[in-house]
Amino acid sequence: LDEKLLRADRLSLIGQMAAGTAHEIRNPLTAIRGFLQLLLPSLEGKGLEQEANYVRLILKEVDRIGSLIDQFLLLGKPREVNYKKIDPLDVLRELLPVIESETLLRDTELVLSLPDSLPPVIADPDLLKQVFLNVVRNALEAMERGGTLTISAEYDPEKRQIHFAFADTGPGIPPYLLDRIFDPFFTTKPEGTGLGLSVCQRLLQDIGGNIRLTSKGRGTTAHIYLPTVGGA
Ligand code: ADP
Ligand code: MG
Repeated sequence: LDEKLLRADRLSLIGQMAAGTAHEIRNPLTAIRGFLQLLLPSLEGKGLEQEANYVRLILKEVDRIGSLIDQFLLLGKPREVNYKKIDPLDVLRELLPVIESETLLRDTELVLSLPDSLPPVIADPDLLKQVFLNVVRNALEAMERGGTLTISAEYDPEKRQIHFAFADTGPGIPPYLLDRIFDPFFTTKPEGTGLGLSVCQRLLQDIGGNIRLTSKGRGTTAHIYLPTVGGA
C-alpha cells in the first residue's frame, strides 16, 4: 500500500511539473524542428553530408524530447478531457492502419480476434487511442522480427466490463520486474522514457478501468479492462 501511495504522489508531482512546463517546451521544440528541416536541403548533396548527418541526428533527438513531452502532457492532463459514450472497437479500428504499418515495418505478424460489436464505454477516444498505442508499441519493441502480436477483445456481462488483450511473443517480463513496470521512469530500454505504462494506468483509472501485465516465462500480455455503460 505504501508503495502505491508513493507512486501516486510521484505521479501527481510529475503531473504538476508537466502542466507547468510541457507546453513551454513543446513550442520552441516545434520551432527548432522546423528550422532544422529548412536547413537540411541546403546541406544534402552539396558536399556537406557530414553536416547533414549532424542535423538528422539533432532532429532525431529533438523528436525524442518531443515524445517525452507528449507523455508528460498526458500524465498532467492539462488539456480538456472529452469524455463521451463510445464504442471501444471504433477506437481500435481507427488505429489499425497505424498498427498494421508498424507491425509490417518490423516484420511482425498481426492477429486480430475481435467481436463484431461491444457495449459502449465512457472514455475520451483520443486518450483511449493513446493507451492502445502505448501497449502496442511496448509489444512491438519487445519482439524480434518474426514475432506475433495478437489483439483480442471480449465482453464479460457478469462483471459488465470489456477485456482487451494485447499478447506478444517477446521475451516476457521477469517476475521481479513486474512490480516496477508501472513506476514512472522505470524502463529497461536504452532509449525508453518509462512513462508509457504510467500514462496508461493513469488514463484508465480516470475512467474506472484498469491495466495489468502478465508474463509466463515467454511472451507478455497486456490486459486492459473497461467498464461498460447502460444495459446489454
Ligand atoms: P518504456 O516503453 O519507455 O520503457 P513503459 O512504461 O512503456 O516505458 O514500459 C516500462 C517497462 O516495462 C519497459 O521498459 C519494459 O521493461 C517493460 N515492458 C512493458 N511492456 C512489455 C512487453 N510487452 N514485453 C516485455 N517488457 C515489457
Ligand atoms: Mg513504452
